[in-house]
Amino acid sequence: MNSENKKHIAILGSTGSIGTQTLEVIAANLHLFKVEVLTAHSNAELLASQAIQFDVNAVVITDESKYAWLKEKLAHTDIKVFAGEQALSEVVTFEKIQLVLTALVGYAGLKPTIAAIKAKKNIALANKETLVVAGDLITKLAEEYDVSILPVDSEHSAIFQCLAGEWHNKIEKIYLTASGGPFRGMDRLALANKTKAQALKHPNWTMGAKITIDSASLMNKGLEVIEAKWLFNLQADQIDVIVHPQSIVHSIVQFNDGSMKAQMGLPDMKLPIQYALTYPMRTITDFPRFDFLNYPTLSFEKADTETFQNLALAFQAMKQGGNMPCILNAANEVVVEAFLNDQIGFLEMSDAITDCMQKITFIDTPNYDDYVATDTESRIFTRNWILNK
Ligand code: NAD
Ligand code: MG
Repeated sequence: MNSENKKHIAILGSTGSIGTQTLEVIAANLHLFKVEVLTAHSNAELLASQAIQFDVNAVVITDESKYAWLKEKLAHTDIKVFAGEQALSEVVTFEKIQLVLTALVGYAGLKPTIAAIKAKKNIALANKETLVVAGDLITKLAEEYDVSILPVDSEHSAIFQCLAGEWHNKIEKIYLTASGGPFRGMDRLALANKTKAQALKHPNWTMGAKITIDSASLMNKGLEVIEAKWLFNLQADQIDVIVHPQSIVHSIVQFNDGSMKAQMGLPDMKLPIQYALTYPMRTITDFPRFDFLNYPTLSFEKADTETFQNLALAFQAMKQGGNMPCILNAANEVVVEAFLNDQIGFLEMSDAITDCMQKITFIDTPNYDDYVATDTESRIFTRNWILNK
């Protein structure tokens, strides 16, 4: 395949956990893909070496203090170097790009994702926060600009894979599986004094710090419930969560005849990443295969939303709709950062989010500016909550 027939890709957040695994998938399939753009927040060294390895057209470093170093490092190449948040929304519109993989973390993904959709680029979406914050806006825009949003998150990829060939059939319900995280089975007393080091030890997945804390608090599953609502156009009562500690069954669809389809495999994000990149095709991999005899028991249990209140808060935000998921997300981003900086206890994260959801002005049908204002207001509220607790 010559360069013109390859799929041209931009990766936002290429230095993170999803970003580096995406580049591993691409490195193993160079006959299929050409990397156009890579971006990172502050890891300029890794961004520079990735840019050289994949001979990209342009890079963005959003931390502007790293620009001079990066520019100098890439001076001997013809790679274009940009800095700052605004540049993300510009590079995604480059003509050659066909697919934008959003692997940056948090609310920062919203603006460049909108810019990419408006430039008619398909989206491989890892950045679930974008759909949590503004799912109605993003899904409407995607429809208007005739753009596909392909899930990268393993549970949503599982649902998407189960739906192949079933687009005309009605979904009765989906079950998102959850590993339960490192604190599964513990009560609130045990959780009160958990440290960030304990919360960062996920049993089945190695991921960025924010999503690892979200997995320990079950907020990640809550965000995924809202992500699923928008990706698959579901009502709140069609989405259920089931804890499955082995992380082999990645999620399940139940159709209206009662039949259930599940997608299974060893936990490895490279598989859902590759499916999003090659969709609708599958391509060969040498990833280790699942062996039933190594897992004689796959188990399932109810999620404990009394202990892990974040999951209940996310369901509540989804049911309330409007800007409530945006409030939940902003408060959560602030408390997770505070927990990682030892400024707040594990259980206090849910307390702060609960207060924020009660205090910030509810908007039933928000527009883009309302989301921006809600995000700012919720962050200020939550930072003050932490200072005054
Ligand atoms: P990470 O922290 O490892 O990487 C984040 C990347 O985004 C880095 O390249 C960083 O430079 C960049 N970044 C961070 N803040 C930024 C900002 N403000 N502006 C621009 N760029 C910024 O995170 P990750 O674990 O790779 O997760 C990325 C996204 O994918 C998250 O939304 C997460 O929920 C989702 N996701 C991750 C996994 C996983 O296994 N890691 C699985 C499913 C979904
Ligand atoms: Mg997931």
